[in-house]
Amino acid sequence: MSNDGQNILLVDDSQADRRFITRALEKCGRSFTIDSADTVASAQKKIAQNHYDCMLIDYRLPDADGLALVECVSTSDQGATGLVMISGEGSEAVAARAIRLGAHDYITKEKIDGNRLSAAIDKAIRSSKREYNKLQQQLMMENFASSAAHDLANPLNGVIGFITLAKSQLEAQRPDKVPEFLDNALTSAHYMQQLVVDLLHYARTGASPEACKPVDLTDVLETATTVMHEVIASSGGTIIAENLPTIEGYKTELVQLLQNLIGNSLKYRSHLAPVIEISAYRHGANSWCLSVADNGLGVPEGDRKKIFSPLYRVHRKNTSGAGLGLAICTKIMDLHHGRIWCEPREGGGTIFNCLMPERQPTAQNVDDLPDHLI
Ligand code: ADP
Repeated sequence: MSNDGQNILLVDDSQADRRFITRALEKCGRSFTIDSADTVASAQKKIAQNHYDCMLIDYRLPDADGLALVECVSTSDQGATGLVMISGEGSEAVAARAIRLGAHDYITKEKIDGNRLSAAIDKAIRSSKREYNKLQQQLMMENFASSAAHDLANPLNGVIGFITLAKSQLEAQRPDKVPEFLDNALTSAHYMQQLVVDLLHYARTGASPEACKPVDLTDVLETATTVMHEVIASSGGTIIAENLPTIEGYKTELVQLLQNLIGNSLKYRSHLAPVIEISAYRHGANSWCLSVADNGLGVPEGDRKKIFSPLYRVHRKNTSGAGLGLAICTKIMDLHHGRIWCEPREGGGTIFNCLMPERQPTAQNVDDLPDHLI
């Protein structure tokens, strides 16, 4: 993997050392953009204004030790920044403290050469991206739990409210409206039941997939459209598919992915008859991007990321759904070490892109995934 072109902040008060480190990186043929700071305070000012992919931090700085800076950056939520601590020989205790405080690697000044340093930068950037993604997922789960509680509370309040009304009418011996109140209570209870089923489905997605095998995406599409035959036919929709490749993956989950995306294209259609184009193109040497394009309502710009969060919905009018379909697609792409996003389609509608590696990494070579998939 190479992180050429990335922004590096070098924090060192010695001009000679800064020059030496910059030259060492240039000599090994890497083209990082290197900015520098000579104190903790000036580094903090720079971090507040720019995003750095990696920081190389000297231990001894004039206004505080570099560990303070490591701690400050590793606990901030300003995105992924790899942290490499630099210090003098024989300071294993400093190294251990730096790692405990959030540094991703440690290198002694005496051992610095371009190759060692660039390997430490690559490792730090990769680790920081992984940590950042994990943190984002954790935040999403917390958000999910509170949204789920909120979404379940509404129909539950409905059930309690209508049963209370029915009870008071019976006590007052005015039974006329009781059947209507009980019907309303049942509607809310059924909605709640569906929501619980959808939440369970979301929670279980990807938990125990079958073995990862070569999967022909044309087969996957055929299975998805067979299952959805009725919905497609009744919507008057057309599906156009180009030759799709075979990739390594989990067939059941990929069928679910296409079902959710096709289902949404039909559900969120415009006044036009739905036309859904499914295609795939190569992305780099080892990845494929599977695209589902529709001529539907489109997704407003401000919602294009949010719709992948559980329970988030944009077009609520006249459509059913709990807002979990795209969150399930995101989990399926995570399972495939891929990612999903959407963009507007020229002429109206939306394109959903699913980028995934052609071959799934093993536990040993997960570090060799291309950068665009981390
Ligand atoms: P649901 O369909 O149950 O609401 P999803 O997670 O599948 O849940 O979708 C979230 C939201 O994203 C939808 O409520 C809808 O507003 C929007 N959306 C999803 N797919 C499309 C699409 N193809 N075209 C327009 N909007 C879409």
